[in-house]
Amino acid sequence: MRGKLLRDEPMSLHTSLKVGGTADLYAVPEDAEDLEQLLNWLAERNIPWLTIGRGYNLLVSDKGVRGAVISLECFNRISNTEDFLIRAEAGVENLAVVRFAQNNGLGGIGFISGIPGTIGGAIKMNAGAYGEGILERTAYLTILRNGIISDFRLDQLDYGYRHLNLKDGDIVLAATFRLEKRDPLQTEDEIRRDTELRRSKHNVGYPSAGSFFKNPAGQAAWRLIDAAGMRGAKVGGAQVSEVHSNFLLNIGGATASDFLNLATAVKNAVFATSCVTLEEEVRIVGEI
Ligand SMILES: Cc1cc2nc3c(=O)[nH]c(=O)nc-3n(C[C@H](O)[C@H](O)[C@H](O)COP(=O)(O)OP(=O)(O)OC[C@H]3O[C@@H](n4cnc5c(N)ncnc54)[C@H](O)[C@@H]3O)c2cc1C
Repeated sequence: MRGKLLRDEPMSLHTSLKVGGTADLYAVPEDAEDLEQLLNWLAERNIPWLTIGRGYNLLVSDKGVRGAVISLECFNRISNTEDFLIRAEAGVENLAVVRFAQNNGLGGIGFISGIPGTIGGAIKMNAGAYGEGILERTAYLTILRNGIISDFRLDQLDYGYRHLNLKDGDIVLAATFRLEKRDPLQTEDEIRRDTELRRSKHNVGYPSAGSFFKNPAGQAAWRLIDAAGMRGAKVGGAQVSEVHSNFLLNIGGATASDFLNLATAVKNAVFATSCVTLEEEVRIVGEI
């Protein structure tokens, strides 16, 4: 590999919850060729692997990740491919795409400006806000599947609220967004309103992964958690936020087990009061 390859890398350094054990290997390939070389090397040795973005939606177990974690942070180019189309590589930050579109007089994707993370993570999670998801604005995805790089139109893929079903081993290399003409000042306004709203609603004061649970159809997870009396509940260093009860926080010294146990307590309490089984939005990875 031309990029970076680290051994026994603490995943707490690469996740917003700041918990989790080490990854046996942590790889940062320089480009697609380097990535393919790495994948071949891992396949020859039967080493499992996992691709991550910036870890804003990841809970890594205390035992850590057996195998390799691959970060696409060097895949960071954005281009205006043709009228109304913008292509962003997987490691580009969401806000950078909104700013690039704005500078080209385009818009329609302002709702991702305040979502922390990269395009790769946002696409896999179908990240969104205010009722919109990023995949609705996506014309096609460039995916590395079984050693072949291909473009997929959205109607060739299965996706929905906060998920995109990819095949095991698929890696999103880039996304191409179909945007519309928009006055840059209007985009500026969208970004400002989003920032203000997040400052007032998400100012939770401690590390988090945003909403921990998905909203069940037609319901708000935070309301169910409140109704179950779990606002402020604690296990070790993990706590249900007093500000936004769908945020679980690391209030100091939390372990991944603290989060898993707190999440189980929340789910049990919600089921007992509302007969609803909450589903984690946060991806739980690593050896349990
Ligand atoms: C304060 C806060 C607020 C948040 N607000 C929102 C919000 O409003 N809306 C929302 O939807 N989310 C929100 N989130 C959650 C999080 O920001 C999103 O899920 C984000 O898209 C995660 O991006 P990431 O790059 O960090 O991905 P990661 O967390 O690193 O990864 C997420 C998933 O994507 C997979 N993945 C990453 N890159 C690739 C790739 N290139 N190819 C294939 N799979 C890949 C990973 O394996 C993992 O399963 C918030 C989080 C925080 C901390």
